[in-house]
Formats: sequence, structure tokens, C-alpha cells
Amino acid sequence: MAFPITRMRRLRKNEALRRMVRETSLSVDDFIYPLFVVYGENKKIPVTSMPGVYQLSCDMLESEIQETVDLGIPAVLLFGIPENKDAVASSAYDDNGVVQQAVRLIKDRWPELLVITDVCLCEYTDHGHCGVVTGTGTIDNDATLELLAQEALSHAKAGADIVAPSDMMDGRIGYIREALDASGFADTAVMAYAAKYASGFYGPFREAAESAPQFGDRKTYQMDPANSREALREIELDIAEGADIIMVKPALAYLDVIARVRERFNHPLAAYNVSGEYAMVKAAAANGWLDEERIMMEVLTAIKRAGADIIITYFAREAARLLG
Ligand SMILES: [Zn+2]
Repeated sequence: MAFPITRMRRLRKNEALRRMVRETSLSVDDFIYPLFVVYGENKKIPVTSMPGVYQLSCDMLESEIQETVDLGIPAVLLFGIPENKDAVASSAYDDNGVVQQAVRLIKDRWPELLVITDVCLCEYTDHGHCGVVTGTGTIDNDATLELLAQEALSHAKAGADIVAPSDMMDGRIGYIREALDASGFADTAVMAYAAKYASGFYGPFREAAESAPQFGDRKTYQMDPANSREALREIELDIAEGADIIMVKPALAYLDVIARVRERFNHPLAAYNVSGEYAMVKAAAANGWLDEERIMMEVLTAIKRAGADIIITYFAREAARLLG
């Protein structure tokens, strides 16, 4: 039944028809809003490469969280910028650390808001790597696991609903799961940054989280952008180790990976619409080169269409306002 019997344009004739046959729809339920919590008081420091994003001290979180809740966004993802950094990321697993304080504050005031915490060492180490650095400058996988488990446990104790390890060390999901279960946190879920690529799209984030590596790069632990079969292996392992939610990061340049993962696995799938993806849209829009709202919604819809159930995005609030 080819042309002229079949005319694809019939169903594009007006908005009502297009709505009726639309295959993908975004919802505020899809979003996780990331926040950067910094030590100190009365701080709201703009991240220059990410317009609209701030480093916030705990006392300044309140209005941001209230606005997020009012918009119906179901979850926030917290990153911490501590006062002190050292070689073994001590502030990461300090029960009075910035993230732990923020979690307690949020869960106390907004118990219904899901609080997810980033579990990694790079924001807390003076060398900026995600693991323990050995004398020869390599990252010690197994020594890192113990610290990550302490960090996850500390977040769980503070009241985090979900811990999200982003370090890409081998075996950390199983190690963290075991540590949580052994301490009575069997109900704390794990969202694994399962397929996280060594990407240039993280540039602005490193300004926001003050986590740029001081030497070398992260290519010995994060994935090679050229690989997608390897992503399936990574995800298979994290599921076997007990991940409740799996993630592909970044999102936009990895839509094929998201689609492959969706095909293969049945776990809830998150995608991280990372800082560089956000900054590109903001910068182009600021120059008048792109229609920001339109591009934002197109990008988020594309990530969902590729197969993501959950989108971690700095656009969460702006998109929620449009969807409202
Ligand atoms: Zn890290």
C-alpha cells in the first residue's frame, strides 16, 4: 500500500492528530534534579559555565528544594563540596559532612522528596581522582571499595533513599550492597553509574564540583567512548552485584548505548544529561543561535525515546515549568 494510498502526512495534519500518535511523552516524574552542596553558610555561588546552577550551602538549600518540590520533581541528586580535601577523601564518609547534613535537613523537612546521593571520592580528594592513589600514581581499585562503602553507609545513615556510586571501580556495587545490608540498610537502593564514559562533556561539572583531577585523567576507570558492547558487560556486572537502577552517562552522545541497554535489560534505566550537554544549549541560546526551550525539550524527549526511564538533568526545573 504505497503512495498514493499510504500518505504519512495524514497523521501530521494538526496538533490533535500529532498528539494522538505521539510515541514518547516527557513527564516531570522522569526527572532527577542535581544540586551542589558546599560547606559554609550563606553561600550561593554561581557556576559560570552552567547558568542557573549554583553551589549552595545547607542554609541556602531551603528555597531551592521548596521550588523543586513545588514543581513536582520527585528526586534530587546531591553532590558535596567539602571544606577540606585530603588523599583519602575523609570528608566523604564524615557523618557531619556537607552531603550528610544536607540529606538530614531535606529528609527532615521534605520526607516525601527522594534524596539520592552521589557516592564518589573525587570531590573529596586533594588529587581529584575517584579512588585511592598509590605511590606510583595509579588508582587502587580494591582499596577504594572500602572508602566508597563507608561513604555510602554514611549517606544511608543520614537518610538517603538511594546511593549512586559514580566512581567506576570494579566490584563496588556488590561491596556497597553488602555493607548496607550488614548495617541494617537493606532498603536503601543503589543506582549504579554502570556505563560511565571518560567524556569531555563533564568539563563544566568539574568547575561546579571542584573535582578536576590534578594529574592524569580518568581513562583507567571510566569507559572508552568508542565502546558500546563493553557497556552491556558493565551493566550486566552491576546488575549481578545488586544494582536497583542502572545508568548510562553522558546521555546525548550515547543515545545508541541507551537504546542497546534498554533492549537488553529490564532494570529501570537512568541517563545523565550532563553538564556539557546543558552548557552547550545555554551558550548557544545566550548567543541567540538556538531556541533554548525547544532544544531543551527536544534533547530530553530524545533521551527518553532512546529508552531512558529516568533523566538526571540540570534542566529539570525549567522543563517541569513548561510541562506544568
Ligand atoms: Zn568521581
